Amino acid sequence: MKQNRQAIVIGAGIAGLAASVRLAAKGWDVRLFEAAEAPGGKLRERWQNGYRFDLGPSLFTWPQLMQDLDNFAKEHCPDVSLPDPFTHETLDRSTHYFWEDGKSLVAWSERTKFVRSAKEAFGGDAANLESHIKHSGRSFEATRQIFLEQSLHEWRGAGKSAWSAVLPFVHRLPWFGTLHRWNRKRLKEPHLVQLFDRYATYNGSDPHRAPAMLHVIPHLEHGMGTHFPQGGMHGITKHLVALAESLGVEINCNEPVKRIVHESGKIKGIVLENGNGNIVRADLVMSNSDVHPTYRQLLPDLVAPEKILSQERSTSGVIFYWGVKGEHPKLHLHNILFSKNYKGEFEAIDKTDGPGEDPTVYINISSKIKPDDAPQGCENWFVMVNVGANPERVESMIPAIRQQVLAKIQRTLGADIEPLIDSEFTLTPQGIQDRTSSWRGALYGASSNSMMAAFLRHRNRSNQLKGLYFCGGSVHPGGGIPLCLLSARIATELTDSHS
Ligand SMILES: Cc1cc2nc3c(=O)[nH]c(=O)nc-3n(C[C@H](O)[C@H](O)[C@H](O)COP(=O)(O)OP(=O)(O)OC[C@H]3O[C@@H](n4cnc5c(N)ncnc54)[C@H](O)[C@@H]3O)c2cc1C
Repeated sequence: MKQNRQAIVIGAGIAGLAASVRLAAKGWDVRLFEAAEAPGGKLRERWQNGYRFDLGPSLFTWPQLMQDLDNFAKEHCPDVSLPDPFTHETLDRSTHYFWEDGKSLVAWSERTKFVRSAKEAFGGDAANLESHIKHSGRSFEATRQIFLEQSLHEWRGAGKSAWSAVLPFVHRLPWFGTLHRWNRKRLKEPHLVQLFDRYATYNGSDPHRAPAMLHVIPHLEHGMGTHFPQGGMHGITKHLVALAESLGVEINCNEPVKRIVHESGKIKGIVLENGNGNIVRADLVMSNSDVHPTYRQLLPDLVAPEKILSQERSTSGVIFYWGVKGEHPKLHLHNILFSKNYKGEFEAIDKTDGPGEDPTVYINISSKIKPDDAPQGCENWFVMVNVGANPERVESMIPAIRQQVLAKIQRTLGADIEPLIDSEFTLTPQGIQDRTSSWRGALYGASSNSMMAAFLRHRNRSNQLKGLYFCGGSVHPGGGIPLCLLSARIATELTDSHS
């Protein structure tokens, strides 16, 4: 009897799990090895004193990519008993924005409602905002196939439909200039400029340096909507694990991979940290580990792509997970308390790795949607500020950052939160690196602070070793849940030509 081909996936982050699902559905025997005690990578959860916290991502967009996976599995394995399809709730708003000057704005999902609210809050020409959002949508649709949905490194993948989407719109795309310049020129109103500048942080970049092409990101929220997975963000991990297991993927936790083994330019398998030097053989290895440790630790004998590895990292974060007594009606699921000087904040991150005196604070409260995430009458606050991807330097700043965050909340919302905190733990760049092997604790791999960043992300298939593939936030097309899911799709599509 013909044996199935053997695939090994290194890392059970979102992309590693999604790649396992796709490979198993295509008939590969898949063994997944994860260093941590549980799957999910950055997308894990923790319970403490009756509060549940999603540890990493909190904003969920482009849910169709999860549905795609369900459909893919169903199509390829009609006889397998698969878990119930992934479900999520579509929200009527994305974020509540607050400024210290007393202004606030709810970003309603319905565009006309959002534009009306913005006009009420800031006056000015609402048509500007409407056309700004629409332009983001058109640019997204024009570029998604070329830049997000296929390999950028294997051009034969660029089909006719990809070019026919982008060519008619090519002259309307901002090829030069920064995101901030693009927003300032079109929106003018400073609060709105800051609001739309913030989308650069969705891949850990600085709007004053990141290319204007990132203007496609707002479409994910304002065009495609903001969603809440059933069970919270960790519901995504749970669903991917259930789907993978139903397809026979063997998920091994507490099993760090020590080396990728190859011979004569071809993958042979891996060696596990606890495997007594034995080779676990495979025809294909898919690394979901950050590309930096993949080369430096797992492939020390291979020539590393130094230019790619030396790119500036995306920002990292300091996250305070606070169980907070009382209910806070001004806040919703996603909340932003903006700094007074956004440019100054990014300059501080650039120079000191700290968030500066007046950080922008993001507060996510999943118990607003899912009340059982906190004890009755309490809320689970995930409070995050951006910092540099510099574990050593940021670690000593944590007590000061905590005070700055509390002061910012007090100044902006008029609330003294500290006495209400009855449960607490913190995640730092060091913690992110230790838990997920993400180089320097960066949230999204390399930053997009240069025009060339998209082209400098690592490819999804090795050009040195036959049988080696890459998925996850540090490779093409980039970080964040949707792009990680796309990286798994692109990488596994490239395995189709594997012989
Ligand atoms: C605090 C925070 C907030 C974020 N907010 C958002 C958000 O709101 N929305 C959004 O879309 N994205 C957000 N992100 C980014 C998003 O979480 C990531 O882009 C995504 O989860 C990365 O997934 P990944 O597939 O690259 O794998 P990772 O999550 O990086 O996991 C990689 C896995 O590989 C394992 N591994 C590494 N090396 C080895 C080895 N040698 N052997 C075995 N296993 C190994 C690691 O243990 C880890 O489990 C956030 C991230 C963080 C940390």
